[in-house]
Amino acid sequence: MRKGIYPGSFDPVTFGHLDIIRRASDLVDELVIAVLRNNAKKGLFSVEERMEFLERVTEGISNVKVISFDGLLVDCAVEYGTHTIIRGLRAVTDFEYELQLAQTNKRLRPDIDTVFLTTNVQYAYLSSSVVREIAGYGGDISHFVPECIIKDVYKKVK
Ligand code: ADP
Repeated sequence: MRKGIYPGSFDPVTFGHLDIIRRASDLVDELVIAVLRNNAKKGLFSVEERMEFLERVTEGISNVKVISFDGLLVDCAVEYGTHTIIRGLRAVTDFEYELQLAQTNKRLRPDIDTVFLTTNVQYAYLSSSVVREIAGYGGDISHFVPECIIKDVYKKVK
């Protein structure tokens, strides 16, 4: 069974993430979506809320599983029996950081590879921070996040 792990903050999940999730879930038998528990970087949403949003928006995708992790991503990957890390690339600005991350992980665990999926151009500008900012000003976020989480995003930023 081929498994992949897609890690991130997902604070909150956006259409950009969902696009990567859909495409990655076609490439593997099981996709583990791993929400980072980062004590130093407190998000707007709690890890539990982010996981619940992810579960809601991926309801129709049968081969995904949502988990959270702290510590090293490569350790989490091994724990879940995967050697494939999935990341999304939006623009060259993502590239340097992602390359460093992938190379560090390769150094730590040579048996684990990072696979990059390039963004759907339609979502190239989209990030969780854009969603948080627009929602904070009461702007329309229906182009950014799935309908089923919109109310909860507004409720939080109020
Ligand atoms: P992190 O804090 O780990 O960057 P994010 O939740 O911001 O977590 O992103 C998780 C992954 O999803 C990263 O690989 C990021 O590049 C990718 N990603 C985020 N937004 C988009 C998007 N609009 N299109 C494609 N990939 C994206």
